[in-house]
Amino acid sequence: MRLCRFDDDRIGLVRGTQVHDVTHVVERLGPYRYPLPRHDVLVASLPGLRPELERAADAVAGKPLGDVALLSPVANPGKLIGAPVNYAAHEAEGAADAGINFGKQVAKIREIALFLKANSALAGPSEGIEIRYPEKRTDHEVELAAVIGRRADRVPVADALSFVAGYTIGLDITTRGPEDRSFRKSSDGFAVLGPWLVTADEIGSPDALDLDLHVNGECRQRANTKDLLVGVADLIAWASENYVLEPGDVIFTGTPEGVGPLAAGDRLVARIDGIGTMTVDVR
Ligand code: MN
Repeated sequence: MRLCRFDDDRIGLVRGTQVHDVTHVVERLGPYRYPLPRHDVLVASLPGLRPELERAADAVAGKPLGDVALLSPVANPGKLIGAPVNYAAHEAEGAADAGINFGKQVAKIREIALFLKANSALAGPSEGIEIRYPEKRTDHEVELAAVIGRRADRVPVADALSFVAGYTIGLDITTRGPEDRSFRKSSDGFAVLGPWLVTADEIGSPDALDLDLHVNGECRQRANTKDLLVGVADLIAWASENYVLEPGDVIFTGTPEGVGPLAAGDRLVARIDGIGTMTVDVR
């Protein structure tokens, strides 16, 4: 199932090139008492809601995806977790001591560890990316993003993928400089998710997906998730050692080489196998 959020916080199922509005099914969630749940209540409810969402989509005509403004498919994640650069550079792959390099890079990732982006940085493709500091370099990072579906507390690697609700494309936008990562990666709009959430059953293994990013038609990043140094299951298990993962939490799984600067007027087209393509404008 492909779930999207669009226009004025409408919820849709994507089928082919059409979006079917199923908002009325989701509006029945709640009501909730203060304090509100810290997780995303739609993602938490998905397993039970899926049959009804499918029936609701059957019952309404679709509208073309091109006619809607796509928002982040997850509205209220509790955490946006990021992994550092998580692919070996192409040069290292061909090196005789590639194994040693990979080991060093994995050790470096383990040392730097995971980081958090502010939830307020969340945006959808239609909202675009605003360059906050034109005098500094702001880079694109295209990444597979895993959305957690159920509570995960210190889960083993072997079970970790069973905690995933689905996958989406993530852009971990980053200003370069000496400031803390959580500052440089948390400007409003710097955590783009989209174009929709594809449920985990449709993706199967997340460990062999091609991904790429074009800027103004030029390919800047291209990789396959089989080359992730710390794989999706390992990232989930690792993150869950440190904080309980809750439905709607997002893990940006790390970017491949090719990150580069953005400027106002740029158009980004990000694509991941099995998910789709999203277009995001920079202003
Ligand atoms: Mn990143």
